[in-house]
Amino acid sequence: MSGYLLPENTDYWDIAIRIHELSEIGSREFESSKLLINVLRTHGFTIKDRFMDIPTAFKAEKQIGNGRPSIAFLAEYDALPGIGHACGHNLIASSAVFSAIKASEKITNGTISVIGTPDEEGSGEWAGSKILMADRGAFRNIDLVLGSHPGDRWSVGDQSLAVQDFEVTFRGKAAHEAASPNEGRSALDAAVLTYNAVNMMRQHVRRDANFVMHGIIKDGGTASNVTPEKSVITYGIRTSDLVYHDELVERFKKIVKGCAIATETNYSIKKIGPLFSTTKINRTLSNIIRKNLIEEGIDCLTLEETFSELPKGSTDFANVSQVVPALEVGFQIAPEGTPWHSRQSLEAAKTKRAKESLFTIITVLSQTAKEFTEDRKFREDVARDFNST
Ligand SMILES: [Zn+2]
Repeated sequence: MSGYLLPENTDYWDIAIRIHELSEIGSREFESSKLLINVLRTHGFTIKDRFMDIPTAFKAEKQIGNGRPSIAFLAEYDALPGIGHACGHNLIASSAVFSAIKASEKITNGTISVIGTPDEEGSGEWAGSKILMADRGAFRNIDLVLGSHPGDRWSVGDQSLAVQDFEVTFRGKAAHEAASPNEGRSALDAAVLTYNAVNMMRQHVRRDANFVMHGIIKDGGTASNVTPEKSVITYGIRTSDLVYHDELVERFKKIVKGCAIATETNYSIKKIGPLFSTTKINRTLSNIIRKNLIEEGIDCLTLEETFSELPKGSTDFANVSQVVPALEVGFQIAPEGTPWHSRQSLEAAKTKRAKESLFTIITVLSQTAKEFTEDRKFREDVARDFNST
């Protein structure tokens, strides 16, 4: 148990600021998760810490009336290594916790939970914890998942790219580079050849699939007069088409194999971390949340406007959207075009504007949860959308 003594009226902004200060990186968010747990316990939620055996994960639950339907809010609270809360996850944490508290006070029937999901940024052992949770059935008895993410605009249907990281190790043969280069087989050559072959492949991929492939050479040898006997490269392969992703991975593996043959080296290839999925958009949910935002005076992008933009990144929230109706609402805390994971976004995550937007998102998410518990048609439409896409 934590030694935190929370002041009587600890509010959503105190929590957002405190987590911004704590600035704990992924898989090591011990104090941040304790803080959130304590707030939820104070508000009558039952706590499961180390949820799914993940040290800094938790689940907090409160049953009201007959306990149906079940709605979960997802909290993130990991900072970025070196810079801090430049992705604004301090606001996501507060948004989830206080939306849940507010929803639990408004409804007459339902189960409201907050699931604390560590390491969205992928810094440590529990990188992409939502993927693990989705795979292990954490969302099986949940009817709706709501989340939020700060950014440079309001949106209700952000796409994300599927991504899988790979590490390839080539092994060649060391030799004196002047006396007996004929004896050597360079693992670095295999790495460089792969790097170039991947660049050539870029011309021959589907343009509509938002293909992105980024790689580095992590290890290219130790001394210039020794044929490098080992090299290591890592690549991330991204696309907005989950089926096409498999094909791209196969082509990457062929490139690696071909480059190993050409350089007479051996290779091994392994996946790093889990596969991040694409997002399954639920139109009913998006439209209702957008309506609720507009009622609060927010100018929110339509789904079509959001779809016309290129997907920018990847998130483990997408994997949740594949197993349960879910939506992560984008809320604006900085001027449009502000770069993220930057000094500007670090500052933006604790400004007055962030505070106002956070208040709005808490109001709208709790209101949406209330409507979901009261409106059978809303529930049926959401389920139909989910099952038909
Ligand atoms: Zn983020």
